[in-house]
Amino acid sequence: MMTTVGLTGGIGSGKTTIANLFASQFSIPIYIADTKAKELIAQKDSLQKEIKSLLGEQAFVDGKYNTAFVAGIVFSDQTKLEALNQLIHPYVQEDFLQWKQNQHSPYVIKESAILFESGSYKDCDYIITVTAPLEERIRRVILRDKIDRKTIEKRIKNQWNDENKIKLSTFVIDNRDFDRNLDKIQTIHCKIMEMIDENAEN
Ligand code: ATP
Repeated sequence: MMTTVGLTGGIGSGKTTIANLFASQFSIPIYIADTKAKELIAQKDSLQKEIKSLLGEQAFVDGKYNTAFVAGIVFSDQTKLEALNQLIHPYVQEDFLQWKQNQHSPYVIKESAILFESGSYKDCDYIITVTAPLEERIRRVILRDKIDRKTIEKRIKNQWNDENKIKLSTFVIDNRDFDRNLDKIQTIHCKIMEMIDENAEN
């Protein structure tokens, strides 16, 4: 089985930035679970039905996912958020496994904001967590998405804290600035390749 490396980190930590470096420097295939989840919600009628019965008919307007309505509910209701993630997770997992079969690489990276929260970390061989100071993350997201601090803070509250993520991670990338990010991913890439080789020998 090809090795799966999970890549996660809180909102604004720089997951996508780091994932792009693995792709550009080492041609590692990247599966972006958050984007795929949105595609699957748009495509799968059975999933749409399940979401409607959890959150209400308004979750879709003219067949389109009503993200504002959904966010309004789930980011103030942890139970609903978890239930929604549990509905989506099996679809993403199946899609990921299919995608992985078509990749030709020593390992693939699965990037997800909710790698731990969804339980999907259990299917990864190794895990990379990207961290950055909370204030810096909030500042980045305000700049990138033009959304207000309150909304970002609400989302952060629903994510696991870094301490708990780090405990279950193989590698941690401190992404407080862009300095040495190339060195950091080079080191991690080499270690992953070594571990893959060691496992192949055993
Ligand atoms: P989300 O969970 O919201 O998708 P993310 O963890 O994938 O976020 P990115 O989109 O990679 O984070 O980065 C968030 C923003 O911060 C982007 O605009 C990115 O260009 C910027 N950024 C990433 N890394 C750094 C860094 N080391 N220093 C300054 N800005 C950074």
